[in-house]
Amino acid sequence: MRATKRRALGQHFLRDAGVACAIVDLLAPTTHDLVLEIGPGAGALTGELARRAGRVVALEIDRGLVEGLRARVPSVEVIEADARVWDYGALARPRDGRVLVVGNLPYSVGKPILAALIAARTAIDEMALMLQREVAERVAAAPGGKTYGSLSILSQLYCDARVALRVPPSAFRPPPQVESAVLHLRVRPAPCVPLADERRFHAVVRSAFAQRRKTLANALAAGLGLPLEVVRATARTAGVDPGRRAETLTILEFAELARRL
Ligand code: SAM
Repeated sequence: MRATKRRALGQHFLRDAGVACAIVDLLAPTTHDLVLEIGPGAGALTGELARRAGRVVALEIDRGLVEGLRARVPSVEVIEADARVWDYGALARPRDGRVLVVGNLPYSVGKPILAALIAARTAIDEMALMLQREVAERVAAAPGGKTYGSLSILSQLYCDARVALRVPPSAFRPPPQVESAVLHLRVRPAPCVPLADERRFHAVVRSAFAQRRKTLANALAAGLGLPLEVVRATARTAGVDPGRRAETLTILEFAELARRL
């Protein structure tokens, strides 16, 4: 039962202190900063964060780990909570410091936690998040490749994103079956391109990638329920060849399309 629960909660604990330090170094917290740690587990990152940051708040879903962590690192405010639905807006921003988010995220819920953090981006300055390597690479991917998709666009619209570290399974106990990577995300002060209507933009991006093997025009006509000829003509006025595939479009081109469609 315990092993099943551990698997469900993605409990692969970091046992490589060098990797833990490298993750914390990416954000270089100071005593002015507030750090929010997601999924502290047994505290592989928490001790170093507590030593360097002004205030550390940690969200852990497993009650069994919460008590141990409170005893081990008493200066950290450990909250028993689900990071997918926590109210990040409730974090009080330090007067002259940053709000930093750090986490070795559970693989099974890495994407919904990332989505919740991006939705709460106005409360956050920077993040260092360990994810399954494939997911981290999708977030940071540039146009033109197979890994570039709606996750890349929706993340890069709001954050400057790069894969900062690759971490092998041997760095964890128990070792996972996949490789991991740490994403370094800097929240942008505003979306990287001006958007006339954010909801429309999201709908266009989702539809374009819903059927990746179709041409852009075919995917958009099907996804948005618009006549194919209208989509083709609109794409041309936006300066985009309607025969292209969604994965070749930049964020700016998607914004132009969304503005006209
Ligand atoms: N930070 C520790 C480390 O690096 O060793 C633990 C990382 S482990 C991959 C993921 C942690 O997230 C576990 O402690 C797990 O219980 C916790 N967790 C899983 N789902 C969660 C959720 N929805 N909200 C908050 N914590 C969660």
